[in-house]
Amino acid sequence: MGATFTQFIACGAQMYQVSMHDDHNLEQIPVEASQPSSPVFGIHSPNGWIKTPIEFRMGSKVSKDQTTQLVAAMATWEKAVGKKLFANNGIQNNIDGDSFKDLYSSLPDRINGNYLDANWGKTGKPVEVLATTIWDNDPKSGNKIDTADIRFNTQHYQIGDSYKLKSNKSQEVVDMQSLALHELGHLLGLAHVQSKDDDLSIMNPSLYIGEGFVARKLSLGDIMRIQKIYGCEGRACDANAIHQEIELDIDNAQPVAKKAAQKT
Ligand SMILES: [Zn+2]
Repeated sequence: MGATFTQFIACGAQMYQVSMHDDHNLEQIPVEASQPSSPVFGIHSPNGWIKTPIEFRMGSKVSKDQTTQLVAAMATWEKAVGKKLFANNGIQNNIDGDSFKDLYSSLPDRINGNYLDANWGKTGKPVEVLATTIWDNDPKSGNKIDTADIRFNTQHYQIGDSYKLKSNKSQEVVDMQSLALHELGHLLGLAHVQSKDDDLSIMNPSLYIGEGFVARKLSLGDIMRIQKIYGCEGRACDANAIHQEIELDIDNAQPVAKKAAQKT
């Protein structure tokens, strides 16, 4: 189950489908999460977080563009439940992924960080892994998540707005908003969902990467699963309607040239 380039399709820009099987610690996922008949299918932490909104910080090297994209992905999950799930607690001064000696050493400070790792090897994850989410559940509070970090592989990928970035010989472009939407799903309590069970789920364990490739939307199933953990408020309680609203929001936010191209 290595993280590998599973597909290559020549389609104007380069596009790879990258496996995300290894973007979290599999030991943290209960077996029921992968069983479609289970009430907790697609969910690794049914009790969610110890408190919301989840206070997060950006690593010191996270750019303005990357922050915008991360925040946009957070807003999509918030829209899906109609509640505030995240609170921006600023920047980690002089601290980013490279400040930690390995993957798990960023957890004990209890700060929920979004970190860039320009020295990815230290995480112990393969080169093909785009990002990884780690978390701790607190058994005293009923196995609620009480801290988490997301680490982004900026050594091997250019992670940002895939409509703007250009790939180069050594680094393929990865859309930050799409990648963050998936990793934030893990952070909120969701597990992978296989494409045979929900092929539009952002929690599919693969992501197309390359210039102009995005996956910034949620499936109806994603919305229903996140509502199983956090409930819903207001308009979000009509899952079908909020699903359509999110699709429209994302379509409207796309660059005009891309919108025109999609009509042909
Ligand atoms: Zn994943």
